[in-house]
Amino acid sequence: MLADRRQRMKRNPSELANKTFDLAIVGGGILGAGIARDAALRGLSVALVEKGDFASGTSSRSTKLVHGGLRYLEHLSLGLVAESCRERGILLDMAPHLVKPLSFLLPAYDGDRRSLGMLRLGTTIYDWLTPRRHSATPRHRTLSADEAIADEPSLPREHLQGAVLFYDCQMDDARLCLETVLDACRHGAACVNYCEVTGFRRTRDRVEALQVVDQVTGESFDVKAKCFVNATGPWVERVGRLASRDSSPISLNPTKGVHLVVPRINQKHGIYFQSKRDRRMIFLLPWGDDSLLGTTDTQFTQPVDAVSTDASDVAYLLGQLRELAPSRAITARDIITTFAGVRALIRSDQRRPSRRSREERIVVSCENCLTVAGGKYTTFRAISEKVVRRVYRILGRKPAKCRTSVTPLPNQQFAASGIQIAASPKVHESDIILACTSEMAIMLEDVMRRRTQLALSRHGGIEVATQISHLMANQLDWDETTRSNQLDEYLDMRAGPTANG
Ligand SMILES: Cc1cc2nc3c(=O)[nH]c(=O)nc-3n(C[C@H](O)[C@H](O)[C@H](O)COP(=O)(O)OP(=O)(O)OC[C@H]3O[C@@H](n4cnc5c(N)ncnc54)[C@H](O)[C@@H]3O)c2cc1C
Repeated sequence: MLADRRQRMKRNPSELANKTFDLAIVGGGILGAGIARDAALRGLSVALVEKGDFASGTSSRSTKLVHGGLRYLEHLSLGLVAESCRERGILLDMAPHLVKPLSFLLPAYDGDRRSLGMLRLGTTIYDWLTPRRHSATPRHRTLSADEAIADEPSLPREHLQGAVLFYDCQMDDARLCLETVLDACRHGAACVNYCEVTGFRRTRDRVEALQVVDQVTGESFDVKAKCFVNATGPWVERVGRLASRDSSPISLNPTKGVHLVVPRINQKHGIYFQSKRDRRMIFLLPWGDDSLLGTTDTQFTQPVDAVSTDASDVAYLLGQLRELAPSRAITARDIITTFAGVRALIRSDQRRPSRRSREERIVVSCENCLTVAGGKYTTFRAISEKVVRRVYRILGRKPAKCRTSVTPLPNQQFAASGIQIAASPKVHESDIILACTSEMAIMLEDVMRRRTQLALSRHGGIEVATQISHLMANQLDWDETTRSNQLDEYLDMRAGPTANG
């Protein structure tokens, strides 16, 4: 039996159609979700529409770190790092069930571009920039080569100078986004997935309504509001052009980032290592029973919906892994699964993708429409606060106090019950029922990839997916054809160039 304290989010597009909201948001990634929650907590009436599932864009395809971003110190982005370190502490307090401290080892070898001394200096500055020290993320310390090898025996011992041990956080990005939407709904927001914005109704320089098509029923309707926010991440230019007919108010220079889930290599820590080939920094993170390796950062010019892992991404990452852990012969056949996302980086003159700024941009694109893009997942709460302040300016009202930094995100997942479907990640029958009845999951992929992390584990293959498709069929009244189509679609989506499902 589900506990009554849970927020029950039902899919109800009709609640969007019959009133004029203070604010209508396009995009149900972490920025749209964060803005909806902030505005709803302050008492504004809010609508949010998402063309796919919540977090189906970039917000379920990140490296899943809530981090200061040590690497950005090299580009002297001190403001961004300080803001990220501050937000890391806030998110740890706000959602401790989804944001967890993680220790990282930064090994330094003879000949590395960044020597052990430089790594120590970087992590010292990182510590200074943390305004509010959280006991869960203590200060860095240096390990000798022997200590580093004792902790992580897969590292080569030869030429190892030592390592720096520092702390950041790991998160469940898709659930943090979903639970932010759920909490926005708890405070009165009307949020609906699988509703695509196809146009904007305008009178001169004002937007009056979003034109929306329900992707489930095919029905069209308008969402009226006094103020609008385009928070569509890497789709921001496409949606911006729908609004202004001519050009998008924000111009992007997107890059693709790919991750591989591989059999477990890490023993105790995340490992943040320097590529010997191109000097980029790569993460190897503990990931349930396995490890998560990423990421690439390459120019991306195709349609965002077409992003996927290709063989060259796999070859690049496996090449890096062979240098880090030569004793662990991981080949393409060992890869458990892969995922790819698109970074919505603001256009700049910087040619090297990894050097492009990760800062956000917020612009007023017409009398009552804001566009926001860029930034990091880690800073979503702070960005949302800035956006909602601008919303109040457009509404001509005195801003109510922002409450997101002091309002915890309630844990949606109570004691599990029913059959245990998988042990790592731990998933029970009750989680699937909850997803269908209270978390607006309507596709098999929603449950496999975002309500749970099964798709990103060794339990994401046909056996578990079939079991879950039957449970969902019971909850959502699917006939046999719908169930088997859902299964096929999910398995097609998961099969990458190397996934062995
Ligand atoms: C590979 C990679 C690794 C990353 N790692 C980290 C990390 O470890 N830590 C960190 O802090 N940040 C990280 N980031 C950055 C972070 O993931 C993003 O900043 C964040 O997820 C962006 O959220 P968003 O809401 O702006 O965009 P998205 O999550 O992409 O959301 C935009 C949403 O808009 C919807 N949409 C588009 N068009 C329409 C339409 N017409 N109608 C309705 N809805 C529409 C899309 O479906 C999508 O869900 C990473 C990014 C990438 C790509």
